[in-house]
Amino acid sequence: MNRILFERSEIDGGVARFGGARARHVIDVLHGEVGQTLKTGEIDGPVGVSRIISVGDGEVAVEICHCEEALASWFDLVLAPPRPRAMKRLLPQLASLGVGRIVLVGAKKVEKDFWGATLLKEENWRPLFVDGLMQAGTTEMPALETRRNFARFVREELDAMFPSANRVVAHPYCGGAPAAERRAGRLLLAVGPEGGWTDAELELLEERGFSRFSLGKRILKTDTAVIALAAKLNKEEQQ
Ligand code: SAM
Repeated sequence: MNRILFERSEIDGGVARFGGARARHVIDVLHGEVGQTLKTGEIDGPVGVSRIISVGDGEVAVEICHCEEALASWFDLVLAPPRPRAMKRLLPQLASLGVGRIVLVGAKKVEKDFWGATLLKEENWRPLFVDGLMQAGTTEMPALETRRNFARFVREELDAMFPSANRVVAHPYCGGAPAAERRAGRLLLAVGPEGGWTDAELELLEERGFSRFSLGKRILKTDTAVIALAAKLNKEEQQ
């Protein structure tokens, strides 16, 4: 936890009181004492520091001073989801890396029972994103949506949801434009299911302006691929 985050509803009159994992971190790891300052922030709001005003009984209270803008997200993701266990590992890391909006799509080779996963309930994915944001020290909560009909989503909704022309579909072995040739603008990345994209899906994405991009001949698990792609496609000015 590099920055402790609060929901807006937890802040009252400039003070936040909290227990649970965040308080244990302050007490056991940071050895927090009254007067000490902590790096803190407000979900979907600014960041800054807070001063501890009380510690005890597994609870901490801090006086908040948040006046810096948090880092903004810089890419969006169309993801044909892997199994829920891999998704659980991936979601906090996506929040840390700076994703803004994720659309989980029903590509042909996505396991059908994925759509019944409890992970798709907001009360289950939101805390994973909060962990990732606290790790990265920023606050913008990613949006997570699902579209089971891949072709309809790509044909009818994608352009309005993601106006940027900088669209990349990740696919092994296909080569990839050198960095200098990649288009400017916010990145929209499409990553395929565990069984890979079908030819028809790749063609449909290409019709919508996506360029194929490969990380090389090694086929990576979805979570490894997404993290490597985000690192590789991040532009220097955003680092
Ligand atoms: N058997 C599948 C195939 O050959 O496409 C493997 C799919 S991989 C587990 C899941 C997704 O991760 C792929 O659809 C692709 O989007 C991404 N991926 C994995 N390895 C990659 C690589 N070397 N380059 C680009 N994307 C990759």
